[in-house]
Amino acid sequence: MKKIQIISGPCSAESEMQVMKTAEALRTAGIDWFRAGLWKPRTRPGSFEGMGEKAIPWMQRVRDEFGMRICTEAACAKHVFTCRDAGFDMLWIGARTTSDVFSVQEIAEALKGSGMPVFVKNPMSQDIGLWAGAVERLMMQGINNIGLIHRGFASFERSVYRNLPKWKEVISMRSLFPELPLLCDPSHIAGDARYVREIAQKALDLGLDGLMVECHCDPKSALSDAGQQLTPDEFISLLNTLNVRSSDNDSPDYRTKLSELRSEIDLCDETIVEVLARRMKVSEEIGRIKRENNVSIIQPGRWDEVIEAAVLSGKDKGLEESFIRDIFNEIHKASVTTQEQ
Ligand code: PEP
Ligand code: MN
Repeated sequence: MKKIQIISGPCSAESEMQVMKTAEALRTAGIDWFRAGLWKPRTRPGSFEGMGEKAIPWMQRVRDEFGMRICTEAACAKHVFTCRDAGFDMLWIGARTTSDVFSVQEIAEALKGSGMPVFVKNPMSQDIGLWAGAVERLMMQGINNIGLIHRGFASFERSVYRNLPKWKEVISMRSLFPELPLLCDPSHIAGDARYVREIAQKALDLGLDGLMVECHCDPKSALSDAGQQLTPDEFISLLNTLNVRSSDNDSPDYRTKLSELRSEIDLCDETIVEVLARRMKVSEEIGRIKRENNVSIIQPGRWDEVIEAAVLSGKDKGLEESFIRDIFNEIHKASVTTQEQ
């Protein structure tokens, strides 16, 4: 079975007792990587902003006494240097920081040559370019020990989740950076301890490489993100019920069935390309007669009819409306372009 990377610990390091108690319980359950936020990015001043450097000796105790590897969020060069000197094993760039190119650049330059691994959380907004850009800024400084974390995107869409997971974007990042480990942070997606499990399972079903999950020895009393943290015991029983799929399977039955289905997919794809080519030919012809008759290329009324008919027919066949709209909008763009030539 594929080994998944687990990073766990409280949202924030709050006290020596809280850090040690949480870490000890996680360690006993076999977790190697301990997280805790030292500097907390908060929306409004005056709320708990983290214990800062005061928490460093607590993290060092976790490393020295339990043999765990320790990591925290770095939001500026000073955090990087402080953590490097304190012997942290890894840092991550938080969602708010990934959105800020100047801070990412500063962190990348501070990390240069340190050999410290760094994970990059997706930015708050659904912007793959910004996420990829942060990775590229790190790579440009010669940093090659990089990982990705999906923690959901802030959104006005109604949802029970605090941040929306967008698996299509995650798959796009995987294709852009296939060699980078990709984790999911179900805690910040969920915003509520009750939903952590279903999100974690979805991430593993998709083949992500691990999870960063917030755990606190007493979540109710947490000074940040109280609603989404699990107790170490809750987390361990959750982990035990997660199903980890393997990345492959050698069974002849599975192999035969898979190759049959893949041949069918190849045939479908060939048909799609042929139909698209035929459609483009017709579209060119329409372009020609519009030109000859001095009629404008774009006729919105007609396009609305086309797309509504496709959505309706798609619904009938169980296809999602947004899927049909995305595909047909691309087809329309290509069609208009040919008619312009
Ligand atoms: C965190 O990990 O505690 C945190 C603040 O995460 P994010 O940057 O994803 O909001
Ligand atoms: Mn948090």
